[in-house]
Amino acid sequence: MENLIRKNIQNLVAYKVDAPQYEIIVNANESPYDFPMILKRKFTDEICNTDLNRYPEACFPELLKALSDYTGIPTDGIICGSGSDELIAMINQAFVNPGDVVVSHSPSFDMYNIWANISDSRHIRVPDLPGHLPDVDGLIKAACDNQAKLLYLCNPNNPTGYIFPKQDIIKILDAVPSLVVLDEAYIEFFGESGVDLLANYPRLLILRTLSKAFGLAGIRCGYALGNKPVIDVLYKVKAPYNLNVLTQKLAVLALQNRDKTLKNLAEIKSEREKVMAVLKEFPNLTVYPSGSNFIYFETPLAEKIYEALLSRNILIKRFKETGTCPESIRFSMGKPKENQKILEIIREVVYNEA
Ligand SMILES: *Cc1c(COP(=O)(O)O)cnc(C)c1O
Repeated sequence: MENLIRKNIQNLVAYKVDAPQYEIIVNANESPYDFPMILKRKFTDEICNTDLNRYPEACFPELLKALSDYTGIPTDGIICGSGSDELIAMINQAFVNPGDVVVSHSPSFDMYNIWANISDSRHIRVPDLPGHLPDVDGLIKAACDNQAKLLYLCNPNNPTGYIFPKQDIIKILDAVPSLVVLDEAYIEFFGESGVDLLANYPRLLILRTLSKAFGLAGIRCGYALGNKPVIDVLYKVKAPYNLNVLTQKLAVLALQNRDKTLKNLAEIKSEREKVMAVLKEFPNLTVYPSGSNFIYFETPLAEKIYEALLSRNILIKRFKETGTCPESIRFSMGKPKENQKILEIIREVVYNEA
């Protein structure tokens, strides 16, 4: 059996996580607000009038229309996936041969590495400059020296929260020979998308998702925006019915009712600023600016803070020390009362230790 498995797959560890059961869950950057009940009802009505014995639309025309209306990109420049995770898989399938080089800044989103490993490519992770500033020149050098097939830019970045200034994105696009994948999973919390760059850069591909600002991590709907030739390549590797009919219907409802689905954006951003201001006053924490719905900080107390919160039934994300990063914590904004509770517990830990 072992000898039947591709060598690079033999060494991988399966991504198996249980859905967390905690009172406050802020470890996965989800929205703390569930999808509005009035839209859930509308959705169930629609499903009652849908033939579930039939395959869904293979190329989701209604969803493309709704996404085009939201993003301003024509429908032939959009493709959807079962979460942007599936789109990252498709990008690798379509562009990356074993041994090819893929470049990203580091730390960033784990999925880039997971799919780089599955495609048996070489993943060069360019560490941030001190103070967690992305090393733009280092990224350009790594991509050019190695004729990288893909260069990921996560903007705003997960987990550090930093944003790439538009001039840096342009500098990179002008310099590298790669397909530049601009991951805008959190763009609604920042506001300045790179979509306008698509007109001038045929090798740019933008990834988006309904999992974060739209509060729909449960339905698995991501999309990519690009120029038609790149999008056409992705359609070649798309599984025929990759988005089920339930996801398609609900995603359209979410996009058509943005007044309801995005109404908590302002509150989440203002919570981020309030929580950030409090954390910055605590001793022993290095808090980084965030353009997203989460906050990232480095501290030798990471383990203690993580355990203290866990014992109070609160789940945050903790990162262990790596060669290039000290111990750190990331947590997304919960509801205001939840954030207060989290801050109180962190306060107890840091002042007990101070
Ligand atoms: C959460 C996240 C995504 C979205 O993943 P989905 O598969 O669409 O849920 C993509 N990129 C980054 C950086 C993320 O943090």
